[in-house]
Amino acid sequence: MAAETVFGKIISGEIPTTFLAETDRVVAFPDINPQAPVHILVIPKSTEYANVTELAAGDPTLLAEMVAVAKQLAAEHANGEYRLIFNNGASVGQTVFHVHAHIIANLEERSLVGF
Ligand code: AMP
Repeated sequence: MAAETVFGKIISGEIPTTFLAETDRVVAFPDINPQAPVHILVIPKSTEYANVTELAAGDPTLLAEMVAVAKQLAAEHANGEYRLIFNNGASVGQTVFHVHAHIIANLEERSLVGF
């Protein structure tokens, strides 16, 4: 079990956000500090996995569901094209140890910074 994180508090409702997508096992919401015109986070509701390596080994179907939600959001909020970024470890920039995918899109409007 991953340690309690800000994303666990978002799932429990303790920290408010706007869910842009929700399935039985996944939610998506805007990044609070966007690095691109479209910057959305997709996370599993489970707090079990700290990073994408653990998720891929433990529940690849859940990882595939996150990608499917990302595809849907990129179609809704951009032209369907997107970057999907998983930071895996503190030394490469991971700050929240509850696995999450960054959906980055609409980069023609602004150059990519921060990743
Ligand atoms: P990472 O650096 O890959 O661990 O990404 C963590 C991301 O979570 C950062 O881009 C933060 O801006 C974002 N973040 C932190 N707190 C919140 C929050 N309450 N709501 C939305 N995004 C958040």
